[in-house]
Amino acid sequence: MTKSNDIYGGVWVFGDYRNYFENRVTLQLIAKARSLAEKMGCETGVAVLGDDVTQFAMEYVAHGADIVLVGEHPGLKDYRVDAYTDILSEWVQFFKPTVFLAGATTFGKEFFPRLAKRLNTGLSADCVALEIDESSGLLVQTTPAWGGELLADIVTVERRPQMATVHPGVFSERPHDHAATGRIIYPEISRVAEARVEIIRSRRQKPGEMKLEDSPVVVAGGMGLRSRENFQKLSELAELLGAEVGATRPAVLAGWAEQDRMLGQTGKTVKPKLLITVGTSGALQYVTGIQGAETIVAINRDPDARIFSIADVGIVGDAGELVQRLIDSLKKRKER
Ligand SMILES: Cc1cc2nc3c(=O)[nH]c(=O)nc-3n(C[C@H](O)[C@H](O)[C@H](O)COP(=O)(O)OP(=O)(O)OC[C@H]3O[C@@H](n4cnc5c(N)ncnc54)[C@H](O)[C@@H]3O)c2cc1C
Repeated sequence: MTKSNDIYGGVWVFGDYRNYFENRVTLQLIAKARSLAEKMGCETGVAVLGDDVTQFAMEYVAHGADIVLVGEHPGLKDYRVDAYTDILSEWVQFFKPTVFLAGATTFGKEFFPRLAKRLNTGLSADCVALEIDESSGLLVQTTPAWGGELLADIVTVERRPQMATVHPGVFSERPHDHAATGRIIYPEISRVAEARVEIIRSRRQKPGEMKLEDSPVVVAGGMGLRSRENFQKLSELAELLGAEVGATRPAVLAGWAEQDRMLGQTGKTVKPKLLITVGTSGALQYVTGIQGAETIVAINRDPDARIFSIADVGIVGDAGELVQRLIDSLKKRKER
């Protein structure tokens, strides 16, 4: 490989392209990487591995990457943590990006810690914000700590790259720009490790009608709904509003909602135009997943509930009763 000084010190993103149309976290990270790189005066790079992945490299350029490093090999057709770690650790040691980001997806969560260990650098997991500290130029990686009670700002002072996995949905992707230009390079792959795991079958999860993360309106419920029957009323309300239903973790654990409906630090992040949150206390771990909503309407019977501190509109009252009243009045309106 010949060394390119152009990308020395760049801000890199791991190109996780599987389920491309559903999983936009790579595109969200490219947008963020670009704004970080602009502040740091360097380039935005994406590293992508697989077999026949140049099409994704072009997508990454259209979404803001200056340079895409493509590793193509039949042995990389399926994601493999050992092979990915070998190749990317070589690339990082050679090209020396200063920042390397991945989505906190199943892949990112598995392979980034291993890569960080191989590179003997730090890694902040599940970040919810990233910024550059103006005085030191270091990447400030904000991640929930102490079980989510605190948001911790972490910096990697000495080691490089500064690595972080980022919660999907935290940042917004840039629009696809057909006219964007960038470089696609194919660094040499010295070897692809023998597969130690044989993939027998892989199956996609059944997608819902609309993804919760993409819905412009979300109706979310918590333990204040007090029963499964009351929680089910949220589905009726959601249907009338053209919304998707979200839930707090306790509501999921109570079996009122499916796991994939969970919002928050260990669930999904949503940024709808309108979010109605019903019978939720406003714990930080939950709020992390909803605070990007444009307008938040909260219903809680306790006027001092923490959720009201982040709500644009607060309604004090019984959750089950108020949801029923909303359903009834929306139905009446529709009948008119
Ligand atoms: C490591 C870790 C990660 C976590 N991750 C997440 C996460 O991703 N998502 C998440 O949601 N939680 C998460 N949690 C849990 C989180 O800390 C809270 O416990 C949870 O969000 C609270 O859920 P809730 O608001 O439904 O219930 P509660 O905290 O019990 O709140 C219920 C609310 O309903 C109100 N209420 C009661 N009765 C009524 C009524 N009749 N009418 C109206 N209001 C009523 C109460 O005043 C109260 O404010 C996590 C916790 C830990 C430790």
